Amino acid sequence: MAGVYLSYPFCAQKCTYCNFASDVLPQALTPRYLAAMAQEITAHQWQWTPDTIFLGGGTPSLIDPVALAEVLKHIPGLPWREATMEAAPGSFTADAIRGWRKAGINRASLGVQSFIPLEITRTGRKHSAEIVAADVAALRAEGIESFNIDLIAGLAGQTFDSFKQSLDWIEKLEAPHVSVYMLEVDEDSRLGLEILQGGTRYGAGGVPPTDAIAEFYEFAVERLAQMGIPQYEISNFAKPGFESLHNLKYWHLDPYIGFGADAHSLDQGRRWQNVESVAMYLDRMEHGKSPEAESTAAVPGEERFFVGLRLSEGVEPTPAEWQQFKEPFQRFLKAGLLEKSGSRLRLTSQGVLLSNEVFEEFVNV
Ligand code: SF4
Repeated sequence: MAGVYLSYPFCAQKCTYCNFASDVLPQALTPRYLAAMAQEITAHQWQWTPDTIFLGGGTPSLIDPVALAEVLKHIPGLPWREATMEAAPGSFTADAIRGWRKAGINRASLGVQSFIPLEITRTGRKHSAEIVAADVAALRAEGIESFNIDLIAGLAGQTFDSFKQSLDWIEKLEAPHVSVYMLEVDEDSRLGLEILQGGTRYGAGGVPPTDAIAEFYEFAVERLAQMGIPQYEISNFAKPGFESLHNLKYWHLDPYIGFGADAHSLDQGRRWQNVESVAMYLDRMEHGKSPEAESTAAVPGEERFFVGLRLSEGVEPTPAEWQQFKEPFQRFLKAGLLEKSGSRLRLTSQGVLLSNEVFEEFVNV
């Protein structure tokens, strides 16, 4: 089956660790942006009916639910099997959730990152653990039982003990799905740039060392499994039946179409990406031009390993693939980064920590 991604790159604040193409943009632009996105959706020639929708960003929970429904109604397939709203804790009310439900949303993903006040403050986010607990209760009261909580291992000021406390909250809230990301340090985020420049803003001096971050992550893998939330992908953990159907499409190379600024798509052997900035996207759409910026042919043979090895189930190479990728397979098996599980190949726990190294090799064979 196929999916639809809607990009809403507007945020109430720019989080210090964030390296996405999102920004604090004037809310006055929202009606224009939603109109442009509706126009892009209606112009699309559907080759299939999607069964999953993902509204990401950015902070799409800031969109007025009535205006949201006006956009979603142009997408075929309602009611979708899974339709996820990415939401900032504390940014929505019970009324808004009712509006989401009417628009077809049946899952939420909460950008929590941490339950510890000092760590939350340093990310620039505004919530508290109590606000997250109230949000979860409101989602459940309005019939949304399927939700994700995002956590980051490696936040400024985080210790092993404080990370454990965040995991205790996961247990307390009985979250059915959790994403755990290791902090990415690059010059695209304010915190990353500060670390690279040896500065101290945003608590940069208090970011745990890389080996401690790996230890937090490995602890999360173990602890979440004990809670009945096993890992199914490098960064994703779910109670059985609560895996993200939409995100699984990315790892299974199923088709999806993205709408909005910086949205990516994969369909009929082609990958493409819309222009990155909202200003450019509006300019293109309002002048009747295509928002597409880049397009490349998909290379399923290589991508199958690049994305499929992210999954805990791994990939089952065909005889031809065993032959084609013989050299890297053997090298990684020998180094203990890959392991065989029946006829499948999967990353070992060491391989997960060095996954980028493994993936790069597959792209460059
Ligand atoms: S982390 Fe999410 S909410 Fe924060 S700035 Fe980035 S996209 Fe916006």
